[in-house]
Amino acid sequence: VKADVAIVGAGVIGLSLAWELRRRELAVVVVEKGEPGREASHAAGGMLAWCDDQLPAPLVPLAELSAKLYPEFVREIEATSGVSVDLRTHGTIVFDHGEPQLRQVACRRLTAKELVELEPDIQPVSQNIQYWQEASVDPRILTQALAKAAKHRGAHVAHGEPALALETQAGRVTGVKTERALFSAPIVVNCGGAWAAQLSTPLDPTPSPTRPVKGQMLALVSREGRTGADARASIVRHVVRTPEVYIIPRSDGRIVIGATVEEAGFDKRTDAATIQRLHRSAADVVPELAHARIHETWAGLRPGSPDNLPILGATSLPGYFVATGHYRDGIMLAPATACLVAKTICGEPLEYDLSRFSCSRFATWGGFPVCRAI
Ligand SMILES: Cc1cc2nc3c(=O)[nH]c(=O)nc-3n(C[C@H](O)[C@H](O)[C@H](O)COP(=O)(O)OP(=O)(O)OC[C@H]3O[C@@H](n4cnc5c(N)ncnc54)[C@H](O)[C@@H]3O)c2cc1C
Repeated sequence: VKADVAIVGAGVIGLSLAWELRRRELAVVVVEKGEPGREASHAAGGMLAWCDDQLPAPLVPLAELSAKLYPEFVREIEATSGVSVDLRTHGTIVFDHGEPQLRQVACRRLTAKELVELEPDIQPVSQNIQYWQEASVDPRILTQALAKAAKHRGAHVAHGEPALALETQAGRVTGVKTERALFSAPIVVNCGGAWAAQLSTPLDPTPSPTRPVKGQMLALVSREGRTGADARASIVRHVVRTPEVYIIPRSDGRIVIGATVEEAGFDKRTDAATIQRLHRSAADVVPELAHARIHETWAGLRPGSPDNLPILGATSLPGYFVATGHYRDGIMLAPATACLVAKTICGEPLEYDLSRFSCSRFATWGGFPVCRAI
């Protein structure tokens, strides 16, 4: 198979990039070891948390760009795929956060009375209540819609076999191979998420030192099984965040609750006691949730990096690029990442300097990637 660009990994990042490159009419193949969109992007809560002032400072411009791009990104994907990705813009209610940052014009304090008016079923568990003008999507639907839209626009998605190694010739990349196939392309982009470090490259150190960071989640439905068309059935309308837990309503009536942050290798098992603890923490703030039925539990693997910032852009191997390490924010950062990495690949001017996210910030020590500067 020949293409202009071969992308390894069909998660939200690889698929958004494929979509963005197809808009520039480049021939794109996406190589996926499993099914498209079934790893971290399937496990995510889908909060678009661009108001969070605890975001690391280097991420703020990317979050702001994503906030700007998201409405049009969703509109185009929905129009092309015919699938609604459940973009919800009611906003987020946040408990026990610090003072709202002044730069966040989209944040304000709420009194207990205002809270009750907004969400009658939420307990004012503290005096420190804020409203943030954020949004959420259903990340499972978003990745399926992205896959459909990218294919519709002519991207080829080859799934079921891992990319094993890069092909190189005369010091530059010429493609990527699986056990049975060679995908020839002058540009290869590693969007392999938590597995990105496993793709063998002729380079040492690996330019994508990601690690899996496990997150356990659960979804609740009300006992009466109010899902589907009756959107008013949902117990809460806003995303709710406390220091212990977050609660994300979906328009089909499910309520998603998360999440743990665990260094547990590639283990995706859930643990009943942990799920119960998350459920209890959610019920502390929305008591009605204590009576809701557990519909599903799962765990996924966030792509962490040594400094937990994304790894974006060119590597020292000509033709080889990386777009991974999005850790807790890959759903939010997908449109900005796709836009900036596509521009880098195409040599277009960038509105943001991506050098902060270059893989060159990592050096190896004793075989383990370590961070040069945080
Ligand atoms: C519990 C949890 C909650 C989260 N909540 C949020 C949230 O609310 N908001 C938010 O913005 N983000 C959230 N995230 C983070 C977000 O899910 C990730 O940052 C994002 O999904 C990363 O996307 P990705 O495409 O890089 O990775 P993935 O979705 O994991 O995709 C990588 C893909 O690459 C494939 N792959 C890897 N290696 C190879 C290979 N060698 N050959 C072929 N294919 C390969 C994998 O099979 C996989 O499909 C959450 C994550 C978790 C786990």
